[in-house]
Amino acid sequence: MPPSFSVDLPAGRVPRFPDRCIVCREPGPGSVFEVGTHTLSIASAFFIHGWGAKHVGASIPACVRCARELRRSRRVCTAVLCILAIAAVAPVFYVMVEMGLHGPQYKLLAMGASVVLLAPWIVWELFHPPVFDLTATSSTTTYELRDREDALAFAELNGVKLDGDRGATSLREAGVGRPR
Ligand SMILES: [Zn+2]
Repeated sequence: MPPSFSVDLPAGRVPRFPDRCIVCREPGPGSVFEVGTHTLSIASAFFIHGWGAKHVGASIPACVRCARELRRSRRVCTAVLCILAIAAVAPVFYVMVEMGLHGPQYKLLAMGASVVLLAPWIVWELFHPPVFDLTATSSTTTYELRDREDALAFAELNGVKLDGDRGATSLREAGVGRPR
């Protein structure tokens, strides 16, 4: 499984990124790619956003060409997820109508079908991590970078002390070790 390197910052801290494209590493890319997520909650475990979840975003430096490609990939991912969701819910709806099921039974069936259909997607994502990803809780935002050098530069720029704080722990756990 390819590694990805996590750097934790306190929630609400505006992150600073190295001034180079996150994909092709061209210096001074002059544009950004917007990434956003919602804080984790029980509702988000079931892909339901908005119930007590807060939006967390970051502007990642990316050159125009790479930012365009990242946006295109994101649109493809969203489309695939929508198709999988429809593919999961449509037969459940059909079964529900045929069997006269309703209420909680429908929700359980829909959730079960979604998990089964999304499993291959989740496995694929594990083996093909994005160049950059975000995970947020109410107290911490975790920045996940695929490139070790970027993770170290990012941690350094954001004043993460690599000995003793949460950023250090994440970096060590991810196999980066001590900073240069
Ligand atoms: Zn680029």
